[in-house]
Amino acid sequence: MTQQNQLTFQDPVHRFPKISPPKQDQPEPGLDADLEPTPDRGEESYVGTGRLVGRHALITGADSGIGAAVAIAFAREGADVALNYLPSEEEDAEHVCAVIRDAGQRAVLLPGDLSDPSFCRQLVHDAVAELGQLDILVNNAGRQIAVENFEDLSDDQWSSTFETNIHGIYRVTRAAVPHLPPGSSIINSTSIQAYDPSPVLLDYAATKGAINNFTKGLGQHLAPRGIRVNAVAPGPIWTVLQVSDGQPKEKLPVFGHDTPLGRAGQPTEIAPAFVFLASSESSYVIGETLNVNGGRPTP
Ligand code: NAD
Ligand code: MG
Repeated sequence: MTQQNQLTFQDPVHRFPKISPPKQDQPEPGLDADLEPTPDRGEESYVGTGRLVGRHALITGADSGIGAAVAIAFAREGADVALNYLPSEEEDAEHVCAVIRDAGQRAVLLPGDLSDPSFCRQLVHDAVAELGQLDILVNNAGRQIAVENFEDLSDDQWSSTFETNIHGIYRVTRAAVPHLPPGSSIINSTSIQAYDPSPVLLDYAATKGAINNFTKGLGQHLAPRGIRVNAVAPGPIWTVLQVSDGQPKEKLPVFGHDTPLGRAGQPTEIAPAFVFLASSESSYVIGETLNVNGGRPTP
């Protein structure tokens, strides 16, 4: 894909090609390494401008897709990064780790399952111990499984989606807050689904609505302590989430074509929103959800 960096003057319609991904399937959570076409996470293009020098970030779901692009961008901006992901995603995590180390920053690998409450606590403990400090938390991990027929949406799926997508955020954040000095930033990955729920993503969309709401409430709660809480709401971004049952297979070839830009977004196009919310330049931005969705209107 393109080698042009994010600072180059360019036409957003054509910055990345309009892709028509072949129908494909991977078992959840899938691997970026096996995704076709390969998503652009900024390895060849993201240029840092020193906006996170000396910072220490923990990012969940950092092995692939949006989390990987955010981890690469944070490292190029000068931050050390702890990466959480599921143990089966080691191959993707090693790739991101190598890119971070090439940028001259520390990468710490902390695999584990966020649906386990004790792991959420352990994760924060280990991130603080390894990085020496924590001042950015990105709650990005999530699962999305499409179900065509409402009666087939099982108790297990409903609970499991809530465990990972919102209970995990609450648990990791609660464990992290006592460690966060004033100036810290918490950023949650929500979705356009919070405003415009797809009929095949009822459980997923409900968790994203909850994340938006939690962000606005906790933002007010922590602001007096100098900790800012915000969210990023992506639209259709080409990631492995979509092929590990995140979308009905017949929708893959036209994924993202219905946006005003006419194409799916690439993970690296999301990363600058997280950099902005993590850095002190957004000091007066709290409880905000930044939409990065190719032009779809949201309320
Ligand atoms: P992705 O599959 O690359 O990333 C999701 C990550 O979540 C996985 O890599 C995995 O490490 C992690 N994860 C899932 N279950 C976990 C668990 N139980 N414990 C620990 N980690 C777990 O896909 P992505 O699209 O980059 O997704 C990142 C975030 O962006 C998610 O919250 C997703 O809901 C959100 N999002 C994505 C899109 C999109 O179009 N791709 C749109 C809106 C929102
Ligand atoms: Mg992954």
